[in-house]
Amino acid sequence: MAEIATRVLVLGGGPGGYVAAIRAGHHGLDTVLVEDTKVGGTCLNVGCIPSKALIHAAEEYARAVRQASGSAFGLTTAAPTLDFARTVAWKDGIVARLNAGVASLLKKQGVKILRGHGTMLDGKTCRVETDTGSETIRAEHVILATGSSPLALPAVPFGGRVMSSTEALSLPEVPGRLAVVGAGYIGLELGLAFAKLGAAVTVVEAAGRILPLYDAELARPVMRSLETHGVTVILGARAAGLSEAGDALLIEAAEGAREIAADRILVAIGRRPATAGWGLERLDLTMNGACIRIDERCHTSMRNVWAVGDVTGEPMLAHRAMAQGETVADIVAGRRRSFDRRVIPSVVFTDPEIVAAGLSPGEARSAGHEVRTGLFPFAANGRAMTLEGEEGFVRVTARADDHGAGHPGGRSRRLGTGGRVRPRHRDGGAARRHRRHGPHPPDPG
Ligand code: FAD
Repeated sequence: MAEIATRVLVLGGGPGGYVAAIRAGHHGLDTVLVEDTKVGGTCLNVGCIPSKALIHAAEEYARAVRQASGSAFGLTTAAPTLDFARTVAWKDGIVARLNAGVASLLKKQGVKILRGHGTMLDGKTCRVETDTGSETIRAEHVILATGSSPLALPAVPFGGRVMSSTEALSLPEVPGRLAVVGAGYIGLELGLAFAKLGAAVTVVEAAGRILPLYDAELARPVMRSLETHGVTVILGARAAGLSEAGDALLIEAAEGAREIAADRILVAIGRRPATAGWGLERLDLTMNGACIRIDERCHTSMRNVWAVGDVTGEPMLAHRAMAQGETVADIVAGRRRSFDRRVIPSVVFTDPEIVAAGLSPGEARSAGHEVRTGLFPFAANGRAMTLEGEEGFVRVTARADDHGAGHPGGRSRRLGTGGRVRPRHRDGGAARRHRRHGPHPPDPG
């Protein structure tokens, strides 16, 4: 059994882990990254990147379909056709390029990548089962970045027609009828994309409205858009099981039980931190519910054991994981850093998209602030009109005492740029370049 001694061990090569490793390598720290499958994690392989590729293809297709029956500005095109196998191959090609880009960045910074499943034996030691045998790594600092996995619904277990977002992103064909359980951002992004690709989509949500984690004002334009795209949304309903033949989802709604016939059922009810199967029980970590508890430096309750990304809980977003990974690597390299959790932007890639940062008016009031909000509708915005994207608005939430202007000390008191429900831009990307919040890996170039 080979033994490796290193300064930094990173367990998990998703956005949290690979960014931590690249940064640690950049600081000249001896670093080993252990990854079970492919570098890039959920985001790059089965999350942000493939879903955004599918969403883009679906939007382009839907636009072409619309234009086949004419457009307000006089363009009429022939009816489009879509070779979905090529769409999937194109998406896979993007993922492969980014995988190679991340691997090359790690290599460039001198990070040793160990492919295999890692198990922590104690707070400094990890055993890795590789294709060529077992290796033991002893590290001064351990960064836990094991990520998360899709939450299963006991009544509707994964398998057969029932799939998670991972399988939904690699379907061989567009399903004729798709049932989606969960109207959070993953369910709606994928549900809407498949509706644009031609599937008959039904979304079932237990809460009384879609996107329960966003405030109602932000969710409203998305609800209208779902209706426009022919998506059936059933609120206040629970997925209770499958029909005997397995070809329908059974739900319990306010008006009683019913069946929703479906060729595929996407269960998107959330994700859980990946805390099992890698030796967490051998560590003396304080937990925060199902997640690893960390402080503002991403330090756990064990000396020199750090944790970043989804395994530390919400918000489970790639750019948060990346920022945390960078923070930890800087601290290990001797810098004074902390992770400011107050303003983590989030984007819902529906149509229209929701971009939010800071506190919503409701959150600000609950935190004891007296607030003022300013709202400007895209329907009155010239650029939005020229893009045929008049649905949505920009909303700013500010403290009532100074309207969000900087106070004499110079610090802004704006509480949230929160709530920009943006139209889908149709300008080939110029405006889009401003909006990205960073699910990308660092520029592989
Ligand atoms: P992960 O990306 O989950 O990576 C963890 C890695 O650790 C995995 O590669 C895994 O194989 C490895 N690992 C775990 N245990 C071990 C072990 N014992 N040994 C070796 N390796 C191990 N976020 C956004 O910000 N924007 C988006 O648009 C967005 N879209 C999404 C769409 C979908 C469909 C999904 C599912 C997620 C999306 N997310 C998005 C969320 C984003 O993917 C995650 O927040 C992000 O990937 C978390 O990064 P992480 O490094 O914490 O974990």
